[in-house]
Amino acid sequence: MRILHVAFEIFPLVKTGGLADVLGSLPPALAKRGLDVRVLLPGLPGVLDGIVGLQTVTRIGPVFGAASVTLCVGRLPDSHLPAYVIDAPFLFRRKGNPYVGPDGQDWDDNHRRFGLLGWAAAHLAAGELDPEWIPEVVHAHDWHAGLTPAYIMQNPSLSVPTVFTIHNLAFRGIFPMEYHNELDLPMRRLNPRGVEFHGNISFMKAGMVYSNRITTVSPSYAREICTPEFGCGLDGVMRDRAVDLSGILNGVDYAVWNPDDTEIAKPYSIDDLAGKKACKLDLQLEFSLSTQARGPLFAVVSRLTSQKGMDLLLAVLPELLQEGAQLVVLGTGEGELEDGFRYAASTNPDNIAVYIGYDESMSHRFMAGADILLVPSRFEPCGLTQLYALRYGTLPLVRRVGGLADTVVDVNDENLAADSATGFVFDEATRHALSSRIREACAFYCNDEAGWTKVQRNAMRQDFSWDDSAANYEQLYRSL
Ligand code: ADP
Repeated sequence: MRILHVAFEIFPLVKTGGLADVLGSLPPALAKRGLDVRVLLPGLPGVLDGIVGLQTVTRIGPVFGAASVTLCVGRLPDSHLPAYVIDAPFLFRRKGNPYVGPDGQDWDDNHRRFGLLGWAAAHLAAGELDPEWIPEVVHAHDWHAGLTPAYIMQNPSLSVPTVFTIHNLAFRGIFPMEYHNELDLPMRRLNPRGVEFHGNISFMKAGMVYSNRITTVSPSYAREICTPEFGCGLDGVMRDRAVDLSGILNGVDYAVWNPDDTEIAKPYSIDDLAGKKACKLDLQLEFSLSTQARGPLFAVVSRLTSQKGMDLLLAVLPELLQEGAQLVVLGTGEGELEDGFRYAASTNPDNIAVYIGYDESMSHRFMAGADILLVPSRFEPCGLTQLYALRYGTLPLVRRVGGLADTVVDVNDENLAADSATGFVFDEATRHALSSRIREACAFYCNDEAGWTKVQRNAMRQDFSWDDSAANYEQLYRSL
């Protein structure tokens, strides 16, 4: 069965978040099950540099404001799966972040950059671009690829089914209505039953309306986005399509995320946790933190945004320090939050350290060296860092929402007795709820070493590999 995945980022070539991790590991997991999987990517510098043996498939010519557009094919560096690349130098050969310019603002022509991705996917599906390989299912990811199902639907002779996965509904891909000409979207689609969203065009809505099936990245988030609280104004559309919506949990590539990886100070395993102590010491020394703290070392590896509850965390730092705990933060995001963490580190250099930036290797050292990973999100479609933390025996402290609720089992009397607890969970997105759970986690760490180790081992034993999720996607494709 031939499956085409369409996305704007893919690990290890271009990554700004969890989407890239999913694209780096889901297609190989499907290929392992015997499916004939290919990906379609934009020709960003990281993609052009990283794809092996790139060759021209066909010259497409001038479209979407680019004078030269060429479809190429090569192989992904690790999995060796075939990858189509849209080489449109005018639109994609830009260094830095794939979505925004050096000034932090969206590129003015983003509608054309993402539109071209969906357009190329539809024409590949039609067999016009590579007659040698025509997909039987097209799987588009997030709003960047949201026009894919719309363009496919536009051609009445094209019956290839589409799956659209929502990785984060908060990013809806909204553009002014007058762009519809440049995007080649016909008038009859520009209404509330089509791509129109409050007078604008929403690429996310296009994906939701025109795909045959919609998935999102955890069962809880699938339920949540049908409600006004989490639906970002699209919950009505979601409810209309509820029978076609399902939640399939993201998986982890344990070949990349495992406490014997090459990035960490000392490897360790579920049977021998000694290396974890060395990793903690190494992390404390890297950031010149005191090695004498009585409480646990908390870590954050995250976008620094209010979605991720980082404002709540800033507000409870005094309580965290009172418990004798420490905090290391790795992230980038909203300026005020970055400044807040910088200030906290400068006034508490022995116990708080912050690295504002993006560093893949450092994120592994955080996972291995910390005692607790904080993910106090207001909403969380799936969340990957808590899954990575579990594998490193770093207990996640999370809010009971979305994928966090589906993957972390709370340390409470019942779960401790059943030997199923893997982390700390709190309910309300409030300063008080977060600080209480932090205090309780600190008390557990300080007073019950044997209990802590037991929970660590439970955490490390969890299996969130792609096997089950890939089987669920395969079942979905076959149902189409
Ligand atoms: P989201 O996609 O909403 O940002 P996820 O938890 O799904 O959140 O995925 C985030 C991914 O990005 C994880 O692989 C995480 O390790 C990584 N990440 C986030 N911030 C950084 C950073 N500053 N440096 C390195 N990796 C980061």
